[in-house]
Amino acid sequence: MSFDKITVPSEGEKITVENGELRVPDNPILCFIEGDGIGPDIMTASKRIWDAAVEKAYNKSRKIAWMEVYSGEKAASVYDGNYMPEETFDALREYLIGIKGPLTTPIGGGFRSLNVTLRQVLDLYSCVRPVRWYKGVPSPLKRPDEVDVVIYRENTEDVYAGIEYEAGSPENERLARFLREDLGANFFEGAGIGIKPISEFGTKRHVRAAIKYAIQHDRKSVTLVHKGNIQKFTEGAFMKWGYEVAAAEFPDETISWDDVAANHGGKVPSGKILIQDVIADIIFQKMILRPSEFDVLATPNLNGDYLSDAVAAEVGGVGIAPGANIGDAVALFEATHGTAPKYSNLDKVNPGSLLFSGVMMLEHIGWQEAADLITSAYERTLDQKIVTYDFARQMDGAVEVRTSEFATAVIRNMDA
Ligand code: NAD
Repeated sequence: MSFDKITVPSEGEKITVENGELRVPDNPILCFIEGDGIGPDIMTASKRIWDAAVEKAYNKSRKIAWMEVYSGEKAASVYDGNYMPEETFDALREYLIGIKGPLTTPIGGGFRSLNVTLRQVLDLYSCVRPVRWYKGVPSPLKRPDEVDVVIYRENTEDVYAGIEYEAGSPENERLARFLREDLGANFFEGAGIGIKPISEFGTKRHVRAAIKYAIQHDRKSVTLVHKGNIQKFTEGAFMKWGYEVAAAEFPDETISWDDVAANHGGKVPSGKILIQDVIADIIFQKMILRPSEFDVLATPNLNGDYLSDAVAAEVGGVGIAPGANIGDAVALFEATHGTAPKYSNLDKVNPGSLLFSGVMMLEHIGWQEAADLITSAYERTLDQKIVTYDFARQMDGAVEVRTSEFATAVIRNMDA
């Protein structure tokens, strides 16, 4: 495929899928979207770190061929005012893997969020957020080291489906009449109405992805988080379909809590991944009081949205939490914070969120050694109390550095 404004790097090769598995050459083409606001600062710093780690981990035998694709304000300047050019989708569909900085959602003009558009158009149905603590990161918990979970949030359904009718609109009145007269529903006059679709198809492909992740990464459990005690046919069905997909498709690898209690004296047999469920409100308590009981958490869309930010705050907050949006083939890794416009081009902010999203990306393509090199160098840098302003103000004796200087320190610490 040829592109209008995108330059395909001549020294790189395409990542492909063979028999459902990624085939990754030694010089894979990876897409990047620089991002708006602080995007250029954190992307430049993080790319230096990713490239250095790959070079060191594989003794120069592997190298990422970066391909810039455009979205947001940079796209608007390159494509004559178009914030989301079609060839960005084409490039991601063809090259499969990309990483993006934060994007401004232009206000007015009928714009939807660029992030939501990317997820929907590319059908990236699972939002994946690993949350763990790194030694030295300021945390409000007594034992932040006990937090090590991966939140799988469904990305396409639930109240985010956009089926919502404003009070007083003709659509709302028609729907309200139908609900009252045909279905016997009872609710106040003048209520805004939203619809919450949760399907068997959407739930099973998402929970399947969470279980596969748990298997590949030697995780102990997958917990289905839901509010099924109240919303029986949406959240409750999410739980039911989650257990079903585990039993039907992963009978050798997984075991349900009921089975453990009834047949194994309450002890999970070795080699099995426990499938359990927990009510959504309780998980917020437990993730503070007993976080070590959880591992992979599979959630519907809205619960996962709240939970990911709340759990991230336990171990350092938005400046460090990484994320990815993953579908059947395409995976887009991303900083989870916004564009923080007041810090644009000041070389000041924390690159941690984008940096660790890149670590997830390296793990996703099977380059674990490079990923591990970054994690250990990052921990060493924090141990030396070298941090950006956001952590510096929460730490005693911190050495506050710029974004670029932080990257230099991490790269230096790869040799330690
Ligand atoms: P924000 O995340 O940009 O900023 C909130 C605050 O968090 C900032 O003032 C800053 O103090 C802090 N912060 C954010 N990133 C940081 C970092 N890397 N290091 C240190 N501190 C950091 O959220 P906002 O102000 O609500 O949104 C600004 C813009 O970003 C909006 O246009 C919004 O639409 C967009 N946004 C984009 C994404 C995305 O692309 N995924 C996510 C959220 C918001």
